Amino acid sequence: MTTRKYGHASKSCKICGTHDRLIRKYRLYVCGRCFREVAVKMGFKKYS
Ligand SMILES: [Zn+2]
Repeated sequence: MTTRKYGHASKSCKICGTHDRLIRKYRLYVCGRCFREVAVKMGFKKYS
């Protein structure tokens, strides 16, 4: 898959697009809010 939806805007949340409190942990590149949702989906229940 070579879908480049975000182009050079890779420093923003890949879910909602904001660049506030971007978390690059685990190479998720999501903001703090979205990270919570992603974390839950991935099984990081300690963030819930
Ligand atoms: Zn977000």
